[in-house]
Amino acid sequence: KTILDMPEPGYREFKTSKYTEEQFNKYGFSNIEKVSMTGLKAVIDTGRPGPTVCVMGELDSLVVLGHPHADADTSAAHACGHHCQIAMMIAVGQSLNDPEVLKGLSGKIVLVAVPAEENIEVEFRKNLREEGKIEFLLGKQEFVKLGALDGVDIAMMTHTSHSNPPSILGIGGTNNGTVSKSIKFKGKASHAGGAPHNGINALNAAMLAMSGIHFQRETFKDEDTIRIHPIITRGGAAVSSVPADVRMETYVRGSSIEGFLDASEKVDRALRAGAMA
Ligand SMILES: [Zn+2]
Repeated sequence: KTILDMPEPGYREFKTSKYTEEQFNKYGFSNIEKVSMTGLKAVIDTGRPGPTVCVMGELDSLVVLGHPHADADTSAAHACGHHCQIAMMIAVGQSLNDPEVLKGLSGKIVLVAVPAEENIEVEFRKNLREEGKIEFLLGKQEFVKLGALDGVDIAMMTHTSHSNPPSILGIGGTNNGTVSKSIKFKGKASHAGGAPHNGINALNAAMLAMSGIHFQRETFKDEDTIRIHPIITRGGAAVSSVPADVRMETYVRGSSIEGFLDASEKVDRALRAGAMA
């Protein structure tokens, strides 16, 4: 509940990371290591040879306007239930770190609090990459690159879900893969009332591209479960000026690599078509 009330999107989970570290300390986990910007890793070593089992929890929230638990300033909200994940990961560690329990185990348990599972705020993360703070936009890939998961034999995590009828526990299925796109339409600013003919309207180009993407939907196969849901993150500078800098972000998701690469190519074509027109 504490984490539910401090939602922070990926690579901004500073409060959540601090709170998780406090919990790690409270339950006596040694070797707490900070990984990437906000990530944490703690190792429970039984002292006996055996497999290394990693239990993960994801630190980040989504951003959902109007969510009942949204942060008033940032609209960040734990709409994906990651606050439960961190609690469950800590609880697993707390239970296994009991000396009586440890006596019956071998190998190592690695507890990982990983940043940035949700692939949002792509532009912000690209800036972090340009500043050299991260290389990958998502936390798990960054952990792999930094070697934080070296030696791990199996990694597992929990995630809240909905089911019908409601159930307490289940095993997850597979998810869609995705290509994420950060899109910039560059136009030419001009006075929107006095000299619109001197401008190049980047917003109109983006609108046309969006329509092009929608027209592609009839070409997708049901079995590929293609999902494309673009947003406009910047629509113009002032209403009196022809929009010259318009930004979009989108995912192109699908259940097969061929499927989402094909859809991704169609999205690229639609974007180019908007820009050309
Ligand atoms: Zn999630």
